[in-house]
Amino acid sequence: SAAVPIREAAGGLQVENLSHSFGDRRVVDHVALAIGPGEVHCLVGPSGCGKTTTLRLIAGLEPLQTGRIALNGRILAEPGRSLPPERRRVGLMFQDFALFPHLRVAENVAFGLAGMDRRRREARVMELLAAVNMIPYARAYPHTLSGGEQQRVALARALAPEPELMLLDEAFSALDTSLRAQVRDETLSLLREAGTPTLLVTHDAEEAIRVGDRIHAMQLGRIVQSGTPSELYTKPANPFVAGFFGPVNRFRGHVVDGRVVTPVGIAPGDGLPEGSAVEAIVRPEALRVQAVGLGSGLRAQVLTRRDLGPVHLLRLRLPDGSSVKVRQAGQIEAAVGEEVEIVLDPRHLFVYPAAD
Ligand code: ATP
Repeated sequence: SAAVPIREAAGGLQVENLSHSFGDRRVVDHVALAIGPGEVHCLVGPSGCGKTTTLRLIAGLEPLQTGRIALNGRILAEPGRSLPPERRRVGLMFQDFALFPHLRVAENVAFGLAGMDRRRREARVMELLAAVNMIPYARAYPHTLSGGEQQRVALARALAPEPELMLLDEAFSALDTSLRAQVRDETLSLLREAGTPTLLVTHDAEEAIRVGDRIHAMQLGRIVQSGTPSELYTKPANPFVAGFFGPVNRFRGHVVDGRVVTPVGIAPGDGLPEGSAVEAIVRPEALRVQAVGLGSGLRAQVLTRRDLGPVHLLRLRLPDGSSVKVRQAGQIEAAVGEEVEIVLDPRHLFVYPAAD
């Protein structure tokens, strides 16, 4: 990945060429990203791929080994120069957080506002407690709150000092689903309004797609693709990114006469070596089922079907014995056991060199 040079006095966060090893194991590998003012970016990837370490490096909780981090034109860290965490003006919120047990909710939120005069401080605390729906609990002690309520207080505390950058590591994961979207959306709209660049680590693809202006997909310490949700959806860089958006159909294929031949259709060879093996991926929603004889589709037999209201999920058997999932809007006449045709738009067939 090409390093993006840090422009002097550029707004937002700039990370370039960030690498980090524990012993001789490299867990962050040439990470580069830039988050503009008010943007929300999501960092996604499998467990252990280096997401938390990346956040800890940006926050200054892990000493920088290689690379450069700048925020609103200030260098936070580069080799030989590093600001301590408390001088970075970076807010950090993990899934595991700790409130001060001997301080009431409002006092917890006020903790980082020591320099502020009392009236402004109280107004700021109330503003934050309102944003996370915790005003009725202002005088409560943390041990009297549920886990979700404590999480919301911790969020308010992280937001109160108006950090120039917000790092959220699975910060909403502990909340139950009804509250989660509400607290998350209100938190992110506060950050957007304040112009605060935000980097959010999540395991939840739907959450990343919903809230991310850009998504960075991370694998084995590297960012393998950065882009808008629709860029990652329509042009996934590899099978992992393709699978991020939901279940996929995977097939083996081969390059024959410059074209990729797979059990579900033929795609352009895109310069892949003649005769080489490929992995072909197609999303269930990119396949369409129609009655036999309507066109030149591929014959298949319906194995199972589920009616989900606006969409149907079908499982079909192809002539070569493999099975394929189809997700289709609208009514579907075909019953289990019947023959149908499957039609694929080749633009939605993603082809990669086979891994093995
Ligand atoms: P998860 O989603 O499970 O939290 P992650 O993507 O955040 O994973 P990291 O926590 O950044 O991953 O860890 C990356 C790798 O580095 C893991 O294999 C982890 O075991 C290892 N690691 C993390 N911290 C240390 C440490 N202090 N010493 C040694 N190894 C570490």
